[in-house]
This record gives sequence, C-alpha cells and structure tokens, in this order.
Amino acid sequence: MFIDSHCHLDFPQLHEQLPDVLANMANAEVTHALCVCVELEAFDAVLATARRAPNLYASVGVHPDYPDCIEPTLADLVSRAALAPVVAIGETGLDYFRLSGDLDWQRERFRTHIRAARAAQKPLIIHTRNAAEDTLAIMREEGAGEVGGVMHCFTESWETAKAAMEMNFYISFSGIVTFKNARDLQETARRMPLERMLIETDSPYLAPVPHRGKTNQPAWVAHVAEAIATLRGASRAEIGEATSANFFRLFSAAKA
Ligand SMILES: [Zn+2]
Ligand SMILES: [Zn+2]
Repeated sequence: MFIDSHCHLDFPQLHEQLPDVLANMANAEVTHALCVCVELEAFDAVLATARRAPNLYASVGVHPDYPDCIEPTLADLVSRAALAPVVAIGETGLDYFRLSGDLDWQRERFRTHIRAARAAQKPLIIHTRNAAEDTLAIMREEGAGEVGGVMHCFTESWETAKAAMEMNFYISFSGIVTFKNARDLQETARRMPLERMLIETDSPYLAPVPHRGKTNQPAWVAHVAEAIATLRGASRAEIGEATSANFFRLFSAAKA
C-alpha cells in the first residue's frame, strides 16, 4: 500500500541487514522501494541490491555532494539506464548548503544528467538544497519537463514546488514532514495536489517521528504517509494508494 520512492539500500547500515529490511517492509505494507544511486562507483552495488527482490528498483546518477568521484558522461548514464530494473536518472541536482566555492562542475554535472534523462527517456530524481533558483533555471534551460521526475526530500518553498509541478515534476516528502518544527513544509504538504505527491524515507537518513535519530529504513515510510494524512484530514490508506499510483505513473519502467 505504501512505496518508498527514495532509499539507499546499498549503504552498509541497511545492506548488512537486507533480509530484515525487506521483512519489515512487508510487515508495514510497504510494497516497493527505489534504491537510488549516488556515484558511478556504487552503481553495480545498487543494481545488485535491487535485483535481490522483485519489488526493488534502481536508478543511476551522481549526487551533487560528491566532488571527488568519477565524473559521469552522458554515455555512462544512458547505457546504465537501459538495464533492468533501472527506472530513473539521479540523484542529481544542486546543493549549495553542503558545498561552496566554485560549483560550476555541479551545474555542469546536473546538465549532463538532464540530457541523459532525455536521451534515455527516463524521469529525473532531483536533489536541491539552498539552490532552488539555479535548479529551476537549469531544469528549464535543459528541457527537464520533457521527461519529468521528482523533487526528492523536498524542503523548499511552495513557489518552488509550484514551479517544479509546472514542469511535470512530482514532489516527494520525507520524514522531515513529521518533525515538529517543519511548519512551512507541513503547509506545503497540506496544499499539494494529491496526484503530484510522492513519499520517501531517504534511508538510512532522516528517520521519521517516532524513530527520529535512528537508522531509517523503507518500512518507516508509513509514518510519513501517516503524518501527511493527519495534515490533510485524510486516511493513511488514501495517501498510500494515491502516492503508489503516482509512483507507477512517473516511473513507468517499474512493473508493479
Ligand atoms: Zn538527496
Ligand atoms: Zn538520497
């Protein structure tokens, strides 16, 4: 009933206990999860992890917070995007919070990902932090709307959400929406059209209340759904069903 649209199951905290992670998902009615790649060096592990269970998917991409890794070419991304069960390009984007200085390489890398997504005809998984204006400008310039995608772990303003939705993008909420002090984000989750919303854990990071501070896992995406349901006066089943349908509409290479 719930789908975790963004997790990192190849990271050691989760990978070492994958059978438990999968069992916990089943117990929490979390039917599928998307394992997101953060550097080319990790892609084989991401793919192998996703291939261990029929309800796991993968992506290919290089995170903006990784300055010292293999710089991906368009061909690196497009060739890997053709492998099953790869359903998306990312995570990619801009992060001016974690890194500073001359970040031309970050913007160039982001453009390469958008071009690859268009060449592969697969949607984008975009990470943006303290860089909303440049992120949206590059998305426009490179025609990201042609393939669409998701603004993952969304923490930006309602105006940014609206601009992304106008480009055919979905907005994904993480455990941050369960945090007491996240008022603006909660307001965004309340106003968001349900047909544009996804949910995620970004595990092993960002465990939702009531597990805050622990190692996060896909099973706990149900708490994200619960928090959004409360904000919207809906049931968690309604949020689960709608976000699951959105997931398969966006990631059309994913088989239910
Ligand atoms: Zn991210
Ligand atoms: Zn991530």
